[in-house]
Amino acid sequence: MIIKCLPGGSFLTNCYIIADEETKEGILIDPGSQVEEVVEEIDRLNLDIKRIVNTHAHIDHAAGVEYAKKALGAEFYLHPEEEPVLQALPESAMRFPEFGRVKVPKIDRFIEEGDEIPIGKYIAKVIHTPGHTWGSICLLIDNHLFSGDTLFAGSVGRVDLTGGTTMRQLVHSIKTKLMVLPPSYQVYPGHGPFTTIDIEKRTNPFIAGGVLLF
Ligand SMILES: [Zn+2]
Ligand SMILES: [Zn+2]
Repeated sequence: MIIKCLPGGSFLTNCYIIADEETKEGILIDPGSQVEEVVEEIDRLNLDIKRIVNTHAHIDHAAGVEYAKKALGAEFYLHPEEEPVLQALPESAMRFPEFGRVKVPKIDRFIEEGDEIPIGKYIAKVIHTPGHTWGSICLLIDNHLFSGDTLFAGSVGRVDLTGGTTMRQLVHSIKTKLMVLPPSYQVYPGHGPFTTIDIEKRTNPFIAGGVLLF
């Protein structure tokens, strides 16, 4: 499996290119900033990316979707409960001028809990993890978990941004949907370094204890 992480923008958001090393078919996860460079990298690697799958629709993850859709001729997949967050993109762009004018991309397919997205011989399974936003999802591809802004190395996502629910719901999603995965599974967050289920289970204060939830 090809996994390329391209952090971009002042939020250092991790955009991921995932592809089958043989068929070259792949998906693009969370194109935010520097999307021109991401598309160049896809061309350089000679990959066939026809699907853009977002973990959620915050501007640092979705500002580049419209450009990537056009450049790659790709379809855009998002959880239905995330649509209001996507619609808020132009408003967010006014607060964060670094993204320029952001057009709301058309959602081509809604993805929900348990849906399977083919990537050549691999399959990306959709896990709905509400908390950071209503329609936040994680993607499980073999033993690799792409956790968006739900789970970070040593921390969890904020719940006070557009679409956020409660810390209690976020931690519940993580405990019931992610911490049940085998400990050896790799975690690729939307920001910051990679980690594993085991490390987070043992040391993340939101999961292992230490942080009081209100
Ligand atoms: Zn976010
Ligand atoms: Zn983010």
